[in-house]
Amino acid sequence: MLDLSHLRADFPILDRQVHGKPLVYLDSAATTQKPVQVLDAMDDYYRHHNANVHRGAYTMAEEATELYEGARRRVARFINAAAPEEVVFTRGTTSAINAVAYGWGLHHLQPGDRIALTTMEHHANIVPWQLVARVTGAELTYLPLTADFRVDVGAIGDVIDSRVKIVAFSGMSNVLGTIGPLAEAVAAARAVGAISVIDAAQLVPHHPTDVRAIGADFLAFSAHKMLGPTGVGALWGRRDRFEEMEPAEGGGEMIRDVQLHSSTWADLPHKFEAGTPPIAEAVGFGAAVDYLEAVGMDRVRDHEREITRYALDRLAEIPDLTVYGPDDTAQRGGAVSFTLADIHPHDLATILDQSGVAVRAGHHCAKPLMRVLDVPATARASFYLYNVPGEVDVLVAALHEARRLFGVA
Ligand code: PLP
Repeated sequence: MLDLSHLRADFPILDRQVHGKPLVYLDSAATTQKPVQVLDAMDDYYRHHNANVHRGAYTMAEEATELYEGARRRVARFINAAAPEEVVFTRGTTSAINAVAYGWGLHHLQPGDRIALTTMEHHANIVPWQLVARVTGAELTYLPLTADFRVDVGAIGDVIDSRVKIVAFSGMSNVLGTIGPLAEAVAAARAVGAISVIDAAQLVPHHPTDVRAIGADFLAFSAHKMLGPTGVGALWGRRDRFEEMEPAEGGGEMIRDVQLHSSTWADLPHKFEAGTPPIAEAVGFGAAVDYLEAVGMDRVRDHEREITRYALDRLAEIPDLTVYGPDDTAQRGGAVSFTLADIHPHDLATILDQSGVAVRAGHHCAKPLMRVLDVPATARASFYLYNVPGEVDVLVAALHEARRLFGVA
């Protein structure tokens, strides 16, 4: 197995104990741990360069602006954007998708138009569209899943027709791990003149991502899921789409001119960044991207495929355990959802915590998907570049212990 265990030394939190046991952190789909390189970059910014950006003519303000814009250039390069202006800093994936829903959807949808999603979406890629549909009279329509937890590409022709104006789908499911049919969905959207929006909250952190190769119109992701801080994320958009999009938020920094009764907008990307942006967070985001680039996203992906394969094989040894998601690691990432007999996932997570194992339990902000799976909740172990096979072994041992404690026959 590709050994990235030396990287663990960069993550101070991985040394801590929980209930007297070494922490086994298996919740990176919710948020990732931060390497010292990210912590240091943010600390250095606050200690030595803290000033507001884009405003001052003094040295520190210029330094802060350069750090902030440098982070934008790094993030743009990381996803192979054509230019840094195609990257708008947001608060995260959720606010990026809302920016498109309110900035593009609100101004382009009419009664009878459709927004096509899939049934495996996170609420962040459902609720903003419902809100905008309510105002515009548009309707939501959904691509179903196959029995083996993939998006049913065979249904694309039935669902994505000429009424569809927006196709919004996740690049990788936070519950099933399923990698979305990017090429097929983007092509189907284009064929009917719809725009495509990718919720890449789980894709960009775990899979090499080339926005020019994917060919979508918008792509959203969060720094905190890729070793960076909370409070910042990015919306990548094609320049022409950004040009035809209205700002969803108004305020300082995003205007060219303000008159008493009207305003004009600043150029990209500032048009979509109203108010003081999350400067230190963007600096941390840039450092996170540097870190991932130094490791290499191909290696991150390979490592995750290997550890996910190992986890799926070891979980298959446990009687009464059901995994929800594709088995083929070519089609999935490292979010592994499961249930164990009739033990409630919350109880399971509490038991695992006693062994130092951090997993998430619940509906994972994907209630429609829970209904498709016919379960109220699942437990979810999710892996990242710092996880090692020994941690899977601790998880499996703790699951056996849970069976014993709950008297599962
Ligand atoms: N989309 C997916 C697939 C996610 O996994 C998440 C976070 O869990 C989000 C969207 C929302 O991300 P954020 O809370 O960072 O805005």
